[in-house]
Amino acid sequence: MPRMRKKADLPTKICAACGKPFAWRKKWERVWDEVRYCSDRCRSEAKRPGKAS
Ligand SMILES: [Zn+2]
Repeated sequence: MPRMRKKADLPTKICAACGKPFAWRKKWERVWDEVRYCSDRCRSEAKRPGKAS
């Protein structure tokens, strides 16, 4: 089993917009439980009704 450890064992989540995993960031240390998107771009794209069904 390959070990792809980074600097630290940071927690990760799956972005609710793009579906990709992203790692904990310093700027999220106080709001990590609320973070749902990997970036501001994903967050803004998720808010706007872009994908019409
Ligand atoms: Zn994303």
